[in-house]
Amino acid sequence: MKGKIVVITGANRGLGLAMSEKIASMGATVIMGCRDEKKGNEAAAKLAARGLDVRFGQLDVSSTKSIDYFAQELSKYYKTIDVLINNAAISNEPGGTTIETIDLEYYKSIMDTNVLGTLWMCKRMIPFLRLSPDGRIINFSSGLGQLTVPRMGPCPSYSISKTAVNAVTKILADELKDTNISVMSVDPGWVKTDLGGPNAMLEIAEGMDTPVWLATTEKKNITSGIFYKERGALGW
Ligand code: NAP
Repeated sequence: MKGKIVVITGANRGLGLAMSEKIASMGATVIMGCRDEKKGNEAAAKLAARGLDVRFGQLDVSSTKSIDYFAQELSKYYKTIDVLINNAAISNEPGGTTIETIDLEYYKSIMDTNVLGTLWMCKRMIPFLRLSPDGRIINFSSGLGQLTVPRMGPCPSYSISKTAVNAVTKILADELKDTNISVMSVDPGWVKTDLGGPNAMLEIAEGMDTPVWLATTEKKNITSGIFYKERGALGW
């Protein structure tokens, strides 16, 4: 990964922080996009103190203006990026919510963060990725976004947002099929983070295995337009 530039959103904790550390330890320069300046600086400083090449970039993915500013700032330092990992997301819908009881403001906030945030990051980062010989976009989805399983889970707004993220992946993979950019969705599994909770089945190291692999493995091992879990294809 030496010489590669990787942008990771939501990088100050959870899977985003762990992936930043892992991918930087493989030699890449990692731009850690975090919405909170203090938390972002602290997270990046901890990794930098271990000799890793990481930079903090202020980024609130729920705001297209913030994404535009992030892209503008990035362009002052880099022409090319090689990997975009759209990891930032929220999921705190009260258990038992149904479409009948859904809260409008909550629904809008989750769609802004999880879906529009992913789409707008793709839009703004594609010009940088086009200049890479092996550009990759990895969109964090979830098993709760799958349409081909009987039950999509207890959080309708979150499930709908992750199904929509998968739609972004499919459409973009098709739009970019004649370019050097691959676009994939990934389900990390149920992981012990603030979002996944303490009862989750997987440790962070296990949950980040597939997204880190998608970001770092040789190009011949990955296929654009696929929803990945455990390094293999998952049904949409
Ligand atoms: P997490 O521990 O809750 O971390 C979420 C990260 O996203 C935090 O760094 C948070 O920053 C950031 N974030 C939230 N809203 C943001 C915004 N508007 N702008 C920028 N950053 C923002 O979650 P996680 O478990 O690591 O989840 C990572 C990804 O995996 C998510 O896409 C999630 O949906 C997906 N996923 C997780 C699981 C699981 O079991 N954990 C399962 C399936 C899919 P702040 O600190 O500022 O809030």
